[in-house]
Amino acid sequence: MTGPRFFNDIEGAPWTDVLRIKQEKLLAQLAYLAKHSVFYQRKLADSGVDPARIKRLEDLEPLPFTEKTELRASLEAAPPLGHHRAAPMNRVVQIQASSGTTGSPAYIGLTRRDQYVWQEMGARCLYAHGIRPGDVTMHAFSVSRGFVGGLPISQIVLHLGAVEVPIGADAGADRILRVTRDVRPRALLGTPFFAIHLAEQAPRLVDMDARDLGVRIVSVGGEPGGGIPTVREKIERLWDADCRELCGGTDLGCAYWAECETKTGMHETAQEFVYVELIDPETRAVLPWTEGTTGELVYTALDRECSPLVRFRTRDHAVVTGTGACVCGRTAPTIRVFGRTDDMLIVKGINVFPSAVRHIVSGFEPRTTGNLRIVADFPGHTTQRPLKIRVEYGPALAGHGDEIERLRQEVSQRLRGLLNFAPAVEMVPPDTFEKAGVQKVALIVRE
Ligand SMILES: [Zn+2]
Repeated sequence: MTGPRFFNDIEGAPWTDVLRIKQEKLLAQLAYLAKHSVFYQRKLADSGVDPARIKRLEDLEPLPFTEKTELRASLEAAPPLGHHRAAPMNRVVQIQASSGTTGSPAYIGLTRRDQYVWQEMGARCLYAHGIRPGDVTMHAFSVSRGFVGGLPISQIVLHLGAVEVPIGADAGADRILRVTRDVRPRALLGTPFFAIHLAEQAPRLVDMDARDLGVRIVSVGGEPGGGIPTVREKIERLWDADCRELCGGTDLGCAYWAECETKTGMHETAQEFVYVELIDPETRAVLPWTEGTTGELVYTALDRECSPLVRFRTRDHAVVTGTGACVCGRTAPTIRVFGRTDDMLIVKGINVFPSAVRHIVSGFEPRTTGNLRIVADFPGHTTQRPLKIRVEYGPALAGHGDEIERLRQEVSQRLRGLLNFAPAVEMVPPDTFEKAGVQKVALIVRE
């Protein structure tokens, strides 16, 4: 890899120094909110915590969380950007939609400063993936829906100094592959299952093997997958490329976690912009940043003008995969995000994340296609019965009933053995389910 090791020197600074910077910026941000945010003035007053007594990062703990439902109510009460808007409208230069899994989208306003922060965090991610200034980059996330995979990704590519090719998943696999054949991007950005879909369609649509299209970096995000070894290996094999994962959370930015060359988890790239806490979602207690700890990510923006957030509960669950210096030189801890509380099902008291089920089923490829659906034939998220899972068997098994039955038993055993819940697996023919396209695949179907 050429050029400096990091996009920004702060990525290699001792983590204790970074925490000190976070602390200074937290105090400045709280002072800003006390002056400019009606929402947080009220919220802090209601909680009985005197913001003036907050001197250290740890002092944040008694402060109340900010829940998505509160932001939604705030947006409805004071459109378009809610009572939590802390900058005058004439300084807002961009509005993004948040693709919330439930209900209507939430809207986030950005000032010029906020744009800079989003771009800087995101550029550190793409740089960690090996994308360099001048690299032609195919934009294959959805660009037309107002979500962060669109314009914010374009802005990040430009901020990095790479060459943006803003085609977007919405244009369809055919168009993306034709442009890829014509301009030969070095990097491709998209969701993991769309990256697989593109590679599988290349021979039919542009008469070329995806490996011959010249893409050497596939940056994936937007849904779990890039961190699942079988999915990553499939993408790398299909494209003959290096596949690394990034992630963010719409409300705080576009991307601020990214894997380096070790591919053992995503480094934080929000050093001076976001303070990240890990909490136990049940007790709400703050958890230590030690390897192997799992918890829900909670974010506090440290440098936000328009739509600030304090202790924002994401419902994203992560495991800490590394702390301390990495061989890449980055000092930020690494995490793997393995699911959302919103998607989580509780089967006879056992927490089940759909992405974990997919992880295990894709381990059986090519005997399965990797495509599956979890059938929620119960209201809400909790069931006392075995969980129905429909799994597509691979094309080679068609007509071999005994092999399909053996596979069904193996998949059931492995799910039970590794995830500790009771599955009721049913095998269905290949192509029963819609493949990943522009839309994220909904693994749960309600019946
Ligand atoms: Zn690293």
